[in-house]
Amino acid sequence: MPAPGENLKINGDRLWDSLMEMAKIGPGVAGGNNRQTLTDEDAEGRALFRKWCEDAGCEMGLDTMGNMFARREGTDPEALPVYVGSHLDTQPTGGKYDGVLGVLGGLEIVRSLNDLGIRTKHPIVVTNWTNEEGTRYAPAMLSSGVFAGVHDEEWAKDRVDAKGLKFGDELKRIGWEGEEPVGARKMHAFFELHIEQGPILEAEGKDIGIVTHGQGLSWTQVTITGKDAHTGSTPMPMRKNAGLGMARVLELVEEIALSHAPHAVGAAGHIDIYPNSRNVIPGKAVFTVDFRSPDLSVIEDMVKRLHEGARKICDDMGLEVELEKVGGFDPVEFDAGCVGALRAAAERLGYSHRDIISGAGHDACWINQVAPTAMVMCPCVDGLSHNEAEEISKDWAAAGTDVLFHAVLETAEIVE
Ligand SMILES: [Zn+2]
Repeated sequence: MPAPGENLKINGDRLWDSLMEMAKIGPGVAGGNNRQTLTDEDAEGRALFRKWCEDAGCEMGLDTMGNMFARREGTDPEALPVYVGSHLDTQPTGGKYDGVLGVLGGLEIVRSLNDLGIRTKHPIVVTNWTNEEGTRYAPAMLSSGVFAGVHDEEWAKDRVDAKGLKFGDELKRIGWEGEEPVGARKMHAFFELHIEQGPILEAEGKDIGIVTHGQGLSWTQVTITGKDAHTGSTPMPMRKNAGLGMARVLELVEEIALSHAPHAVGAAGHIDIYPNSRNVIPGKAVFTVDFRSPDLSVIEDMVKRLHEGARKICDDMGLEVELEKVGGFDPVEFDAGCVGALRAAAERLGYSHRDIISGAGHDACWINQVAPTAMVMCPCVDGLSHNEAEEISKDWAAAGTDVLFHAVLETAEIVE
């Protein structure tokens, strides 16, 4: 099987024009986008994407969760398709590239193949997953999750937004509920291009991030109980200060995460202190410890040490402590073959690259459960995302899409 030549590239100008055209739909208030899932703006963005795909000779499939599948035929009717894609929905104050680059990068691959008259053995299917962002309907990555069998479809369709509108009703209302059973498709492979949404690639001057893993996480809710008492009249040795207990546990969280540097992280982002009054020693503290790592055994070790350490700290201080797991998901290890195809593509094209771990969730993390999957990332300015000021350069977008192009071509097999 010949590898694509190093001169084979997508059309970076056309890709950029399409990104800018899509960004006109559902404009934000500060130069970004508000194209939330299952809104009229989402429907308009979908219609534009469908038109572009049909103009490029693709046939559009639509499943019962509204996931879109634009298919470019292969030469072998038996060969499973190579899928590529991401999401067109945005945060309420989102950027122009988060998700959109991965979908329109896939379309650009099809357009470039058409320009070059290249046929592939396997079909290529460009996908737009419904409701990746999870802002209007929690959780994030809802429809790729249903596709992968992680979530039940009926449960997903019963999700309600802040106004009480159901996902299933809104999908019908905007006219994008298909008839194809969700998850029925079988994939030869799935590739997702995404902006990094972090600062590493730009800081190191790398063009490309080859995503080897997705971080897993575990949330532990810690409840420390002491005794509310007057801050003035209670002697120091007689206090049961739950706030101080929490402070010592938070020091421990930092210490545990740092002991697994550089990939592990830990913090408590949500903290409640009771009664939260200036002249009352806190009688109760409730906080959630968020530990993350690409390695499941590391997450398990961090949680175990938190349990042991928090008990010891609280015992020594005469405080009660309860620890409860309130959320989490396992780390993702992407397919070695797909990761290798992306790395080889970056090498062949002469782009600087490094392996990277995704700190955020992506559709690819669910699809990885049902098909060989990998992700490639391009830098974004200051690592900023989920913000209207999210920015990338035309060259970064083109380089990421070139790498995606070569990996997809090698996997879909060029027909001579
Ligand atoms: Zn995204």
